[in-house]
Order: sequence, then C-alpha cells, then structure tokens
Amino acid sequence: MRRSVFIKTFGCQMNAVDSARMFSLMSSAGYLAAPTLEDADLVLLNTCSIREKADQKIYSDLGTLRRWKQRRPGRLVAVGGCLAQQDGEALRARAPHVDIVFGTHNIANLPGMVRKADRSLPTIALGMDEEMTHWDVVPHLPVGAVSAMVAIMQGCDNFCAYCVVPLVRGREVSRRAADILSEIRALAGRGVMEVVLLGQNVNSYGKKEGEIPFPELLRRISAIERIRRIRFITSHPRDLDDRTIRLFEEMETLCPHVHLPLQSGSDRILEAMGRGYTRGEYLSKIDALRKLRPGIAFSSDFIVGFPGETEDDFRETLSVMGEVRFDSSFSFRFSSRPGTRAAEMKVMVDPMEAAERLRRLQELQAMHTRERLTTQIGREVTVLVEGTSARDPGMRCGRTACNKTVNFTPGSSVGAIRSILVTGAGTHSLVGAERTSDA
Ligand code: SF4
Repeated sequence: MRRSVFIKTFGCQMNAVDSARMFSLMSSAGYLAAPTLEDADLVLLNTCSIREKADQKIYSDLGTLRRWKQRRPGRLVAVGGCLAQQDGEALRARAPHVDIVFGTHNIANLPGMVRKADRSLPTIALGMDEEMTHWDVVPHLPVGAVSAMVAIMQGCDNFCAYCVVPLVRGREVSRRAADILSEIRALAGRGVMEVVLLGQNVNSYGKKEGEIPFPELLRRISAIERIRRIRFITSHPRDLDDRTIRLFEEMETLCPHVHLPLQSGSDRILEAMGRGYTRGEYLSKIDALRKLRPGIAFSSDFIVGFPGETEDDFRETLSVMGEVRFDSSFSFRFSSRPGTRAAEMKVMVDPMEAAERLRRLQELQAMHTRERLTTQIGREVTVLVEGTSARDPGMRCGRTACNKTVNFTPGSSVGAIRSILVTGAGTHSLVGAERTSDA
C-alpha cells in the first residue's frame, strides 16, 4: 500500500512554495497526500521562526506528534524550515521522536532522508547549499489552479535589527531569469493566469548575480502568453526604484497592489531597526505610485514596541497610517529573536504597553480596511475567478487586481475574468453579483 504524507506549513508564502516542493518530491517517491494527520505515515512540519509565538506553537505540535507516533509503529516525523535551521540539534534534543531535522537549503534531499529514517537512521541536515538545488524541484500545483507563486530569490543581506531571516534563510541568492521564465511558461501552459513573484526583497533581484534587473524580469514575464496578472512580494521601501514604480503606469499586467512594509513611522526607530529609509522617503514612494496608478492598493507590516519605542514614536506610526490609509496590514508586537541585533538592545518597552499599542494600531487598521472596502460598494470590479467561496459553497470567489477577495453569484467557471457589481462589504472581503458580459 502507498504511504502518505501530511504537510503542515507555518509562516510566509516562501514556506508555502517550499511545502509545495516537498510534496512534489515525496509524490515522486511514491507518497500520496494524507487527508488528515491520523491517515498519515509521515508528518512534515515546515516551520517559521520569525516570532517567539511561532516557536511555541511548533514545539506544542511536536508534543502532540510524540503521541501520534506512538499510536502506530513505522510513523515518521520530519521538521524543516526556519525553526529547524535555527534550533537544529537542540530541536532534536528537545523532541527526540523527530526523525529528520532539515534546514531551508536541504529540501532536495528529503526523499533520501526519509529512506534513511525508515531504516531508523535519523538525519540532521542544516548546511547552506549554495547551488540551491531545491530550485530545480517544480512545486506541486493543485489541479485547476489559476494563480501560482514563483520564488525568484531566497535569503536576505539586509540584517534588519529585529529579523532572523538572514540567519535562517541565508544570504540573498537570486534564481536565473531563464529558469524563472521557463517555470512561468510551463505554468501558463497548465492554465495559470496570475503569478506572484516571491522573495524577501524582490527589488534587489539579480543585483549580486548580474542577472537582468527586476523591472526587466517583469517585462519579460508580462510578454508570456496567457499571463494576465503579475504580483510581487515583498518590496523593500529603500530598494523599490523609479524604474519599477514607472512600470505601474506602463504595464497593464502589473496588479495595482503593493505590499510595502513600513515597520515604524518614526525616523528614530527606523534608524534603530536599520531599515535604510525615512518616513518622508517612504511617503514619497507611495505618492509617486498613487500618481501613476490612481486607485492602487497598499498593504504593510508593522512592529510595535521595538526596543526604545516611545509613545511619540508610536504616534508617528499611527500618523503615517492616517496619511496612507492602508488597505490592510500585518502587525505584531516586537519579539526578540536569538542572534539578532535587537536581542542585545536593553531599553525594552513594557509588554502591557506594547500590547495596548498593538490594539490601538489594529483598531485603526480595521477602520481603514472597512473604509477602503466600503468605497467599492456600487462599483463594478474585475475579478479573476479562483474557485468556490469559503463562506458559501453556493458562491464563487475571485480577487480584484487590487487583491480584494470578492464572493459573488451566480458564478462563472474558474479562470474566467468577470465584471462584478459590488453590493456589500464584510470585514476583509467584498460581496457582489456577476454581470452577464465578459470584462
Ligand atoms: S529586509 Fe529586513 S525584515 Fe526583510 S527579510 Fe531582510 S532582514 Fe528581514
């Protein structure tokens, strides 16, 4: 009987793509996807270590997996991703029932590690593979998918004071443009119409390797037949250059949504974070984008309670939010990460105070999100139909070019591009009804 694997993914989109690669590898090794944990012979946790809370959750899952493993002989547990890279040997010392610990550059060897574990030989693989051999593995794509994520680079050279990414994902490495383009051509051949280009800092794509610049990569992707929408994540406010900004006016396939992490609105805190831009520089890029592409949507990331952040610093963040009125954002309380510069900083913000600031920021964001959604009521928006609505199986769902989810009736087939009249707005999504003619 064929064995089955259950993959649980924590963290960012980069991990989601890595998990899709892990599934491709295990599928080639004869494994099926287990519908539930209980059905699985192999459990694979693809972990995140960006915040302390993520670590705690993963170790709690590992406690559950110890009992899961005891219930049936021959079961295996593998832990990959950023926490595996960070904790390595210590992870296995804390959870000895884990058979395989593998880092962010060791994905390509997964089937071999599983075969060894079948012979009761555990593996800890944490080397940073400079050849990035896992990029040759094509990520699994669900049947009928019209949108796909494509990693264009990995790692980061910025070493922002709070961030563990350069330590666990390694230094920045870009893929060859020819490989990216051929992956996207193959995706287009399978019906994909939208690609989301992924990297920790996509705007510095190819600079170290002397590859074509990021704007040129976007142009070449845009020329691929059937690709109707291009998105990218994450942009760094310092590296988002004028050439890329101008493309938002010229290139129709470039979706009018930019995720531009601000982190803090205070110049003093931005400097302590080592972000390399000021509040003014950030706002001038937002202005330039708005002038070139009216109606463009913005989302962001915020950290509150960074060491030394005062109430005045925090109010600067709220004031930038008031100016930009982001469509959405991810916000977190500062979490000290081992090995980062911020972990050595002494002036900590009182945790209760930081929690209260986070509450205030999220309340303001909820107000802005509502405001941005309700402005759409009564308008016609164009959506790419992605599937069945999660909130109502009788409805379809799709996304606008501005990245807003729309649930609508009656429901065209997946992959259609349709014009929808927006009739209502929820907390994070829109509701509408389909117009009869194609957009
Ligand atoms: S740019 Fe800064 S926050 Fe983003 S991944 Fe690199 S080090 Fe981390």
